[in-house]
Amino acid sequence: MKPKDLLVHLSHLEAKLNDFSFEELTTDEASSLKNSFHAFKTNLEGKVFGEPVQISTIHKSTIGREPIRTDKETDDHNKAKLDKTSGMLIATVSHEMRTPLNGIIGFTDLLKESQLSGAQKNQVDAIQSASRTLLEIINELLEYSKLRIGLEHFESVDFNFYRIVKDVMYLCNTLIVDKNVTLKVDMEEDIPEVLKGDPSKLSQVLLNLLGNAIKFVEEGSISLRVRKKGQPAGNFLLEFEISDTGIGISEDNLKNIFESFRQAEFTTHKKYGGSGLGLSIVKQIIENLNGNISVSSKLGVGTTFKFVLPFEQGSGSYKPEQNKPAVTMEANKALVKGMRILVFEDNLLNQRLIEQRLRTWGCRVHITDNALYGLNVLENHKIDMVLMDLRMPVMNGFEVSERIRHSTNKSVKNVPIIALTADFTIRDEEQFAVSGINDYILKPYSPEELLQKLIKSKKDMDSIYAIEAEPMEQPVVDAHKTSKVNLANILKECQGEMILLEELVVLYKQNVLEFIGKVRLHLNNKNMEEIEFAAHKVKSGLAMMGAFSLHKLAAEIYNVSRTDKDARHLEFLYGCFLEEYPIVETAINAELEKLGKN
Ligand code: ADP
Repeated sequence: MKPKDLLVHLSHLEAKLNDFSFEELTTDEASSLKNSFHAFKTNLEGKVFGEPVQISTIHKSTIGREPIRTDKETDDHNKAKLDKTSGMLIATVSHEMRTPLNGIIGFTDLLKESQLSGAQKNQVDAIQSASRTLLEIINELLEYSKLRIGLEHFESVDFNFYRIVKDVMYLCNTLIVDKNVTLKVDMEEDIPEVLKGDPSKLSQVLLNLLGNAIKFVEEGSISLRVRKKGQPAGNFLLEFEISDTGIGISEDNLKNIFESFRQAEFTTHKKYGGSGLGLSIVKQIIENLNGNISVSSKLGVGTTFKFVLPFEQGSGSYKPEQNKPAVTMEANKALVKGMRILVFEDNLLNQRLIEQRLRTWGCRVHITDNALYGLNVLENHKIDMVLMDLRMPVMNGFEVSERIRHSTNKSVKNVPIIALTADFTIRDEEQFAVSGINDYILKPYSPEELLQKLIKSKKDMDSIYAIEAEPMEQPVVDAHKTSKVNLANILKECQGEMILLEELVVLYKQNVLEFIGKVRLHLNNKNMEEIEFAAHKVKSGLAMMGAFSLHKLAAEIYNVSRTDKDARHLEFLYGCFLEEYPIVETAINAELEKLGKN
């Protein structure tokens, strides 16, 4: 059983324990037993959620006897404990919900690529839009609870401040194109170019406050002013002021505006959506960075948020941006139109920026910070290029690239990979070769640089394909394998996470059912190309599940639909597949159960 599952059981047990009377024990004995239980659970929570808990401290203060507390202290203590438990619960649940939701979004992307009627397309768009809203809420909940229980990671690195402001403004400008709104930036000139601090959190705060301003101004102006304030030893303060001429907030509502789940007007949610968590997250981030935030507003006139953050002057310099003529840009954009690009990136600002840029150039984009999810996208979608952030949590970009290069699926294995990196050393260059990374772009990069790299990689790939005619794909399975499935390897890939494995099995089943449906349809209308495509697509999933017999059949269907195109032979193979599928499914379910018990 995984520690997280054990925690769930312990929480159930804790509820029962609280109702238990312990009649046969003395008060001290009962209290001692309860405390040992709590000490164990708290320590396990610390391990699971990455927060070290000193067991000795717990022992000292709790084992044997409850510490003596005043009523108020007891209330505060219980409240803090409850807050932490609920914070962890929210963090775990929202984290677990992201994977299947990303799956839904990914599959609707795939669905949109198939032939749909106008009404069906609208329905898929609606599913996608609702899923994205849900994902945003879940991400906010996750972040909110991580901040509350102190699990959010803050960094202190050198970054180009002007670049961050420029990128944030670029994104905001894309949000006001349909509105009659002007957006201005006013920055004092003596602010150093390179600062030391947390660029990711700064951009998140700015995006959130400017995003709100854009949301609540239909017509008018929004401005961002940045000033340098005071100069306490070595550090300095930057004051940011975000003003808008929007709907404003009433005096009454202003008092509680930074509280969680708070929306100023009752009708706000109906009209504008949102979770009411944004400002509370912003406030917690700013306070964690030793800053502060305030707001002033007048209903019907506008709102101003002001926040102050300390920074240090950073070291190092950034290369100036190349200013290529716009004409080249326009011509180049046409070259990347339609490219399908998978981006591994964990920084929210970078995610939005890159998505926005690639989409405006007509590329189709998948973005993720989760290595396994990304690998799954690669196996199930046609992807022309991978952009890989090298610094990612859990599995870094080098490791993900190595996995890609070891894929048994030829098109996955050969996909061009461009690394996105903030610093580049000789060691990195060696590591690039080992991990199979083809090229890199230094961060921060301009849209022109990104575009040029994409075009260069595309040209390299096109010339490789022009030279080598694609050899016939060899089935990767051992035909003599007798076991129906092998989930042990894929469980290892999931780093032992049963929940993830179960999700992959659900995706696998969907893929196979889709394959069965498609082959039936295209056997009827004798469309060999579609059968070939469907078989090609399903093969990798079957190999991944170790479903050898089904993989062998799919590989044969693929070969026959490609070469001799014999419909009767295909009908026969399809019949075999239909007979075999339920047997394999039973084997998968049995193996899942077996692995779940271990
Ligand atoms: P949400 O995600 O719902 O927008 P926030 O915490 O970001 O949550 O904002 C809380 C509420 O504060 C909003 O619902 C809105 O009523 C009010 N608010 C925030 N910023 C502005 C603004 N610039 N102008 C008017 N109202 C605002």
